Amino acid sequence: MNGDKIGETAILVIDMINDFVTGKLGCENAENIVPDLKRFLEDAEEKGIPRIFIQDNHEEDDPEISHWGQHAMKGEEGSETVPQLQGLADERLRKKFYDSFYRTDLEQVLEERDIEEMILTGVTTDICIQNTAAGAFYRGYDITVIEDGTAALSQEKHQRALDYMESIFGAEILKLEKIKERW
Ligand SMILES: [Zn+2]
Repeated sequence: MNGDKIGETAILVIDMINDFVTGKLGCENAENIVPDLKRFLEDAEEKGIPRIFIQDNHEEDDPEISHWGQHAMKGEEGSETVPQLQGLADERLRKKFYDSFYRTDLEQVLEERDIEEMILTGVTTDICIQNTAAGAFYRGYDITVIEDGTAALSQEKHQRALDYMESIFGAEILKLEKIKERW
């Protein structure tokens, strides 16, 4: 990422919804990233970098429900963006699978905005972040994953997923402050 590519970068904010942060599948690690992520998304707005929120939104017969039990159910509080990050989305998409590209309009939204590089934030590092990184890699996007803007149930799972995305998808793993230095 460098100065002349700013117009072609988007931030993806994945699954920062009540159920994954403070609810049924939530965890302290997810709660801990919220304040810095909020400031980062506010800074991005000033720089004109689009922030695309994409979040789980399930119905009873979705395959994930039999595996994980009910979570992020359509129309319920659990599937809503956490209060601290409300009002920060330039686009909002809903998904039913780990990969944010699968059966969503994400690719179309990115094409309309001429996006070539994606900055991945949100939860969880080893599930929806990693699967979305795979989807981005297959489509030729440059991928940056924010180390302190993503979280998993354990630090071990978090680190393993970061290492995987770096070695398998060529993702750049950066801290929030490091990215802001480049803007
Ligand atoms: Zn789900």
